[in-house]
Amino acid sequence: MLHGCKPALDVLIIGAGQSGLAAAFGLMRSQVTNILTLDKAEEGQEGPWLAYARMHTLRSPKHYTGPDLDIPSLTYQSWHEARFGAEHWQALDLIPRMLWAEYLLWFRRVVGVIVRNGCELREIAPAAGGLLAATVQTAAGIEIFFARKIVLATGQEAMGNWSIPEPLRHLLATALASGADTIDFAALRGKQVAVIGAGATAFDNAATALEAGAAEVHLLCRRAEIQVIQPYRWLTFRGFLRHFSDLDDAWRWRFMRAILELREGFPQATYDRCARFANFHLHEGSPVEAAKEVGNEVELQTPRGIISANFIICGTGTHIDFSERRELKNFADNIATWADRYQAPENERSPRLGRYPYLADDYALTERRPGQTPWISDIHLFAFASTMSFGPSGSSINAMTTAIPKLVHGLTRSLFRADVERHWASFKAYNGPQAVVARPTQASKEQG
Ligand SMILES: Cc1cc2nc3c(=O)[nH]c(=O)nc-3n(C[C@H](O)[C@H](O)[C@H](O)COP(=O)(O)OP(=O)(O)OC[C@H]3O[C@@H](n4cnc5c(N)ncnc54)[C@H](O)[C@@H]3O)c2cc1C
Repeated sequence: MLHGCKPALDVLIIGAGQSGLAAAFGLMRSQVTNILTLDKAEEGQEGPWLAYARMHTLRSPKHYTGPDLDIPSLTYQSWHEARFGAEHWQALDLIPRMLWAEYLLWFRRVVGVIVRNGCELREIAPAAGGLLAATVQTAAGIEIFFARKIVLATGQEAMGNWSIPEPLRHLLATALASGADTIDFAALRGKQVAVIGAGATAFDNAATALEAGAAEVHLLCRRAEIQVIQPYRWLTFRGFLRHFSDLDDAWRWRFMRAILELREGFPQATYDRCARFANFHLHEGSPVEAAKEVGNEVELQTPRGIISANFIICGTGTHIDFSERRELKNFADNIATWADRYQAPENERSPRLGRYPYLADDYALTERRPGQTPWISDIHLFAFASTMSFGPSGSSINAMTTAIPKLVHGLTRSLFRADVERHWASFKAYNGPQAVVARPTQASKEQG
């Protein structure tokens, strides 16, 4: 389709991390090829792997299939065996994160996903002809892309940002970082470091600070006892991954509230990486209640006393707040949330999870006030925030092989329906004979 003099895309995918790549691959396998994937990062720097992921290996078991969509020759295992041999694979415990990043680049090249890097989506607006206009910042300036559909595969913080607990928000950036920030760990040598949170990311940051020579690292866990259960291990079975989204709202809410409130546990190796240091201190039952700067230290007040630190790293995950994302600004206040659509029973309430977007069955955003921004039904969210509606899906390696087909089905269904009149006209005009039938003429009958 043409819009002005610029061809419109069928699907514009934002984000060339593993989710964006897998979505593009899934679409290509369904013969949707008029697509483009954009990422603000430079090639090879997409996602957390080489940026702020501070673990040595992935946490998920090595045999999980992911962007390969269950095609054996495209799995991480196949790539690893081709590169290092089958024995090496057998001996491998978990996938090194640097190799995962390398595999994703290989995957993208070998399946032919077209990515333009250095392109940041800034705004989405409706355009003529039922299209969406995506305003994109590139090195050369602003470029507008027109598309029938946009898939946001923008990662963990797609619908909000990395969390900083309220009592710390007034602190200067010189004393505070989130686990997703670039941190000069060498500068923490000899310093007192506090890490807030007790999930895998918190431990990874604590370990990196310890390995960089921090004098002491205090990890503050708000729970009375640290959480060692990994709910994502339990839920990784095909029935749950494939059919969770078919459940009614009450069941979806019940499961995901329990799972997301529990939060993710951490693997043994992640814990051991910290525990081997005598200067590592785990403080359970220690939510930060207040923070005060005293000289070049920050005093963190907890129910169990004061902990002083020169530098604080928050490993407290992400929160949902549509207004914090520039690209959502034209419609942020009209995205329906779970709180808009579902009233949880008293004992299952959670304002935090109520802020998650309430998605349609094709991952599309839905309207809080129907009719005000109907075009947002062409914006599909395949990111961590899809989790309340779909269970693990976007941003989850374990779920790709079940979630991507659902996303692709939703996109092709919608494109096909929108084109039905054109298909009908095309069908009516279709008159290409498949075979030539020889009918006897009067003359040939007479001869015979
Ligand atoms: C530290 C860490 C470790 C993890 N380890 C595991 C693990 O072991 N196993 C597992 O299953 N999961 C793990 N995860 C969860 C998940 O697999 C990762 O977050 C993964 O990166 C998600 O892939 P994604 O493609 O959805 O998002 P990302 O990889 O984050 O990719 C999103 C992309 O979108 C781009 N982008 C964002 N906004 C814009 C914009 N406006 N315009 C253009 N581009 C944009 C970003 O540059 C980025 O490249 C981990 C997550 C983290 C943070």
